[in-house]
Amino acid sequence: MAELNPFKIAQAQLDEAAEILGLDNGTRNLLRWPMRELVVHIPVRMDNGEVKVFEAYRVQYNDARGPTKGGLRFHPAETVDTVRALAAWMTWKTSVVDIPLGGGKGGVVCNPKEMSEGELERLARAYMRAIAHFIGPDIDVPAPDVYTTPQIMAWMADEYSVMRGYNVPGIITGKPLPVGGSLGRHDATARGGIFTVRESAKLLGIDLKSATYAIQGFGNAGQYAATLYKELLGGGKLIAVSDSRGGVFNRDGMDPAKLVEHKLSTGRVENFTNSEPISNEKLLELDVDILFPSALENAITDKNVGNVKAKVICELANGPTTPEADKVLYEKGLFVIPDFLANAGGVTVSYFEQVQNNTNFYWPIDEVYTKLDEKMTRAFHAVYEMHKSKKVNMRVAAYLVSISRVAEAMKLRGWV
Ligand code: NAD
Repeated sequence: MAELNPFKIAQAQLDEAAEILGLDNGTRNLLRWPMRELVVHIPVRMDNGEVKVFEAYRVQYNDARGPTKGGLRFHPAETVDTVRALAAWMTWKTSVVDIPLGGGKGGVVCNPKEMSEGELERLARAYMRAIAHFIGPDIDVPAPDVYTTPQIMAWMADEYSVMRGYNVPGIITGKPLPVGGSLGRHDATARGGIFTVRESAKLLGIDLKSATYAIQGFGNAGQYAATLYKELLGGGKLIAVSDSRGGVFNRDGMDPAKLVEHKLSTGRVENFTNSEPISNEKLLELDVDILFPSALENAITDKNVGNVKAKVICELANGPTTPEADKVLYEKGLFVIPDFLANAGGVTVSYFEQVQNNTNFYWPIDEVYTKLDEKMTRAFHAVYEMHKSKKVNMRVAAYLVSISRVAEAMKLRGWV
């Protein structure tokens, strides 16, 4: 695929699935574009007294299955096409886990690393004021994403509540617990991914207790994947881990909790006790049972895919495999749990947060975990069955499951 515009990629993926599903032109054309988009320019007073104007977006891709839902990025390279693509992928993600929501996404073009806390708060509140008439608990609910935090969600929920004159915690998810967050949201993405690994291993006959695993990226998703593997799958050998500064390797295995401690205290995984250095490139090519790409896009490409050997690739990151590399993984018989299935645990618990906010009744942690397990396990098997019955790879199968559900809802509503 020569074109690297993410929205063109999202449209091409849709076209491939639409072709296999035999969707009519009306359905296909509606699914190729966001239903609604808002572009705003928002003035924010900076600490030096000047007013800076920020461009920002909110895209509501498709709400046939329910109110739209999706994160908000604060990023200097944000574009409307990135937000459109992410909104499309959110539509497929909420559908594949079968939660009654559509897909949306937001973005503000800014560099939060160069902004003070006060400037970030003023920007967050100004963005909420600018989009408040466009969103709502029954319309479109944002959440954190790249460079946006639970604190930013708390400011935005507060701003919306002030505008309405009463508390509206359900306007946004990923909030801190004292202002209506859900228990279990912090590790939901990795936990959901681990559930899909457990189900894959049953089908592929892999003994996870003695299996080896490696993790690229050691942030929220990667760190929790490391510790939850041991906790939920009863053992395993973590033989390599990396972050943006470098990686560490030990063929005999490393203690996940101690690695997390080391990362938190030193800011890096390098120099962990009894480990040797490993590059990110080599980590991806290790002969392991399970590989968790948990960093950024385009980690597995046509350049390195020939050397990738992991039996199962659980894509906790969004878009870690390029379309060309994906085809090769399938031909090589490696089993991929595609990103919008593998990392859907995050939006699933965000949905649980919405439900708890709307009923003003909060669930104990075990209830969150049990409900997440049910959703992820069911979603995994729906995709696996499609993969078997249509003889397509797991990613195409995930598209077929989710797009057919959205298409069916549009048909039942009489839109197409
Ligand atoms: P994060 O910022 O907490 O962690 C990212 C990690 O990747 C950091 O450890 C960073 O050092 C590392 N990294 C960056 N570049 C790297 C490179 N070239 N090689 C190796 N490591 C590198 O982010 P996160 O929340 O863990 O998200 C990671 C991925 O998971 C992203 O693709 C994100 O979109 C996806 N994701 C996260 C969630 C969630 O709930 N956190 C939900 C869905 C998808």
